[in-house]
Amino acid sequence: MTLIDVALALPLFRTFTYRVPEGTTGSTSVGSRVLVPFRNGREIGIVVGPSEPRAGINYKQVIAAPDDAPVMDAPMLQLCTWIAEYYVSPLGVVLRTALPAALTGANAPVPARKTRRVVEIIAELPSLLKRDRLFARSPQQRAVFELLESIGGRAALKLLAEQLDFSASVLSGLVTRGLVRVGVETVERDPFLTRARRPPDTHLPSDAQRTAIQRLAVAEPGHVVLLHGVTGSGKTLVYLELLRRIVLEQGKTAIVLVPEIALTPQTVDRFRAVFGDRIAVLHSALSDGERHDAWQALRRGDKRIAVGARSAIFAPLRDLGAIVLDEEHESSYKQGEAPRYHAREVAIVRARAEGAVVVLGSATPSLESWTNATSGKYELLTLPDRAGGATLPIVHIVDLRAKQVKLKPSDTPEADAAFALAISAPLADRLRDRLAKREQSILLLNRRGYAAFVQCGACGDVAVCPNCSISLTYHRTPERLVCHYCQHAEALHVVCARCGGARMRQRGLGTQQVERLLSERFPAARIARMDVDTTSGKWAHADILDRVGAGDVDILLGTQMIAKGLDFPNVTLVGVIDADVGINLPDFRASERCFQLLSQVAGRAGRGPKGGEVFIQTRSPSHHAVQCAVTHDYYRFVREELAGRVHPPYPPNVRIANVVVSGTQEDATARLATSVTAWLHRLLEARPAFGVTVIGPAPCPVERVKNRWRWHVLIKSTRQQDLGRIGRFLVERFEVPKQFGLRLTLDRDPVALL
Ligand code: ADP
Ligand code: ZN
Repeated sequence: MTLIDVALALPLFRTFTYRVPEGTTGSTSVGSRVLVPFRNGREIGIVVGPSEPRAGINYKQVIAAPDDAPVMDAPMLQLCTWIAEYYVSPLGVVLRTALPAALTGANAPVPARKTRRVVEIIAELPSLLKRDRLFARSPQQRAVFELLESIGGRAALKLLAEQLDFSASVLSGLVTRGLVRVGVETVERDPFLTRARRPPDTHLPSDAQRTAIQRLAVAEPGHVVLLHGVTGSGKTLVYLELLRRIVLEQGKTAIVLVPEIALTPQTVDRFRAVFGDRIAVLHSALSDGERHDAWQALRRGDKRIAVGARSAIFAPLRDLGAIVLDEEHESSYKQGEAPRYHAREVAIVRARAEGAVVVLGSATPSLESWTNATSGKYELLTLPDRAGGATLPIVHIVDLRAKQVKLKPSDTPEADAAFALAISAPLADRLRDRLAKREQSILLLNRRGYAAFVQCGACGDVAVCPNCSISLTYHRTPERLVCHYCQHAEALHVVCARCGGARMRQRGLGTQQVERLLSERFPAARIARMDVDTTSGKWAHADILDRVGAGDVDILLGTQMIAKGLDFPNVTLVGVIDADVGINLPDFRASERCFQLLSQVAGRAGRGPKGGEVFIQTRSPSHHAVQCAVTHDYYRFVREELAGRVHPPYPPNVRIANVVVSGTQEDATARLATSVTAWLHRLLEARPAFGVTVIGPAPCPVERVKNRWRWHVLIKSTRQQDLGRIGRFLVERFEVPKQFGLRLTLDRDPVALL
């Protein structure tokens, strides 16, 4: 009798034993998929080993073995086992994450894309007055029209329907009135395949670049290098030279990780310029089928470089020679659901096992990587200057607390007052100047929507989400209040829900409002807004960025998504509308995030020969995150920030795991948090050798999300093995009562504690 152990993608920390019936044709060796009965259904699992029979057990039979050969080789299985151990996640859940969805049935099969219906605006409605009259009796038509407007005037019907609930008659009403047209189009092919191929850069490396390239050429297998290069220092050229050697000369393979493909089409273009069809770009817009094709091509060796976000670290490449992690400080490298892995840690473990070199690149390395580089665990390579003779931009602070930056007396009152509250006089002057010189500007406001929240002018009550402990954001086009945590939307309150007062005030700027203020003040300017609301189309990011690159945009306004990797030499001005968004969040990384964001967005200015300058508007001009961004002083920032994480200790001075308990009932959740803490204390009393401290419990800073109450307990230790052991004990042994939807999750090395 042949018995096998199978890992299933279930929240259970064990494998299951099945019998392989005689005459099974497919592969049942380690790493193969098998279809097995489980409870009343069937599951796809991965064979993790042979098993020994035990007396008295009637083993269930494997239903089918669909593979000719294992889908997962031994090194990948080992990597997944490490992830399961370290992040305290069931092995089956990790294996499912590492394989394309088409193989594990994690998602319903997606039909091949062929045609789709698209809706397009054919009549502009510039005047608000006309709009009010036209839509007086059809607010639903208005909502659809304005949604369509806000995403560029054209969108797939399916996408519109996902965003807004409306009936077919609403759409046909718009068509009858000649406002929109509905058409059918063939779905475009993967634009990364059809994108114009740019010629490769032909720069001669600078001395610093050459040193880095030479060091990497002699790096031992498993070696980790932190490439700390200021913004615009030419880190990409160093990556390209490394890959040229690894892939073209040595015939090995490589993985390039970027925070998000959609936001970095330029980086991808540069790799494609050099390596062409050897690259598989694993972007989020691929269908399950396309992703599977790319995966197969990498496995067969037809493609030798995988470029992608976080999960591309699981690319099925053999002979791996190098892993590049660009913008290694980005929090998107950490997965927010189980398994809560960090691609940087996984990359390092994978590279060590398979003999590859790792390059972590950033202008603002995470404190973790910096500490590892200065302690000698990683090698530190530095590109201290901008490439091609460019210099870092001059950064000015505009103190929003000072009166004189606001109103200019000669201006007409109302509209200008609103404008001046958003854009200070010095920044407005520079914007006007850039428009006159036909140079480009980038404006950052890390808050989407129209106004941050609405507040009653009489009693001060703020409209909050019924499901989350968070205020609702006011959106226009379509007009509604939206929760940015759970997407709950409701109509704008005309009267206060608490006191019935009729003076509901909008507070705090959002990108929609700034876009409007800019277009009123600079009617001739071509303004592009880039935030989650304008980029719901699959290629919306790349489209906007391509327009900026082609010079068709004068002002690019957006949330943090405009701060990444963009390289536009004609951008000579960067403005930060409100640097204080996020700076005071109750999270130990709030300052680090803020410094990184300010430094990165400032780094978009002056990358060409014309130079550039940056204006940061803030009410906390003396905050060290702001100060160090102004002086481009990463070293000082790290020094001060590390010192601030000693009492109480936070990473990288200590390792932490965040245990979050949640449930639908407030009391039950709090009680569970208390008993988890007591359980941990008892465990530690029994094992005094463990160097672990337990902090809490306390309600999470965001106490309620999607109708679930949340409490957390922090486990800290300087010894990561102890932390791992305690975490595993807790997750595997602590029994969570089966009521009130109670859940317990453990997040090892969390990137945020909100
Ligand atoms: P980073 O990623 O470090 O911010 P990039 O790799 O985007 O910087 O390079 C910034 C710009 O400098 C790009 O336009 C690139 O083509 C250019 N560049 C890179 N290396 C050189 C060099 N040695 N000489 C001249 N220009 C260079
Ligand atoms: Zn909500």
